Amino acid sequence: MVGSSTLTAEAWNRPSKQWIVDSGSTSHLCLNKSEFTSYKKYDSPCHIWVGNARTIPSLGEGTISVTCIINNQPVTHHIRDVQYVPDLTYGLLSCSVLNSQGLCVLFEDGLCKIQDKGGRLIAESLREGSLYFLNTKYSPIPSAPTDTNTALVIPPSFDLVHKHLAHPGKDTLQQMIRKGLVDRLTDIPDDSKDFDCVACICGKMTWGLFQEGHAVAHERLRRLHSDICSPMEVPSLGKRHYFSILVDDKTGYMWFYPCFTKSDFTTWFIKMDSFFTNHYQSHVKILRSDQGGEYVNTALEDYCAKFGIAMEFMVPHTPEQNGIAEHANWKILDKGHHHERLQCP
Ligand SMILES: [Zn+2]
Repeated sequence: MVGSSTLTAEAWNRPSKQWIVDSGSTSHLCLNKSEFTSYKKYDSPCHIWVGNARTIPSLGEGTISVTCIINNQPVTHHIRDVQYVPDLTYGLLSCSVLNSQGLCVLFEDGLCKIQDKGGRLIAESLREGSLYFLNTKYSPIPSAPTDTNTALVIPPSFDLVHKHLAHPGKDTLQQMIRKGLVDRLTDIPDDSKDFDCVACICGKMTWGLFQEGHAVAHERLRRLHSDICSPMEVPSLGKRHYFSILVDDKTGYMWFYPCFTKSDFTTWFIKMDSFFTNHYQSHVKILRSDQGGEYVNTALEDYCAKFGIAMEFMVPHTPEQNGIAEHANWKILDKGHHHERLQCP
């Protein structure tokens, strides 16, 4: 370990790369507690958002002392309202805070100059890569690796790496990190423990097969399948845009009704049920449908409750479960389209 007493004069005068002048940061952030001349610890850490949608903890704030080199002369500045963020690799001097404190930050010819109101140069930074390193005096504080790509300085999250590497599997990515194949990651990040990627889950989802049929009703009117078609572009001669159907499960017999709106179904169903009662001495036992809004209304529910008709609903958006009515629907539409084509020149 190198103690400060063993540093040569040359080392002391060597500019160090510990601070970056940053136009994206909203606060001054320092990673070395020893640079603070006054410091107040927060009761609980604040969280600072960084570029890859992660947060890093800020543990306190205070005033730091920085010795800048201007015209080869050391000039010490005290900077207020600096947060202590040990997870950083470099200190960040926020342009917007400097500006709000009445200082002028100028970027030109690979140089960033910080001037006070009177135009006096108080600090300058040299561009290296895409970063502007504040020209400060070397201090014995251990500095971070000088890879300019690590400006954003904290290791990426498991989630981010997973997305950047085109969604490899969790185990594969963990192995890659262990083998040192992932830049800037030497350890597996903590967020890998309960990691789930929504895109991967959705991408691997498949529809289950609807192979099992239902037990066919043993008597007529035991179960009626119903459906209402989507609005048709061409209305019927009676200006109706919809039709409703009822299909008897036992016999396959179908009743058809063109309607103006989907809500017409309730009135029609009540009429049909009284027709069945009169002609076949039986109410419908089960009305099976998708969970469309036209079936969920008080009038229909009251009627069904009054005459003991069970309303059987399918899982929404699974027409496969309403196969009989859907099939009947398509048969009618096919016939209609065929008829339409025959009439066209
Ligand atoms: Zn994924």
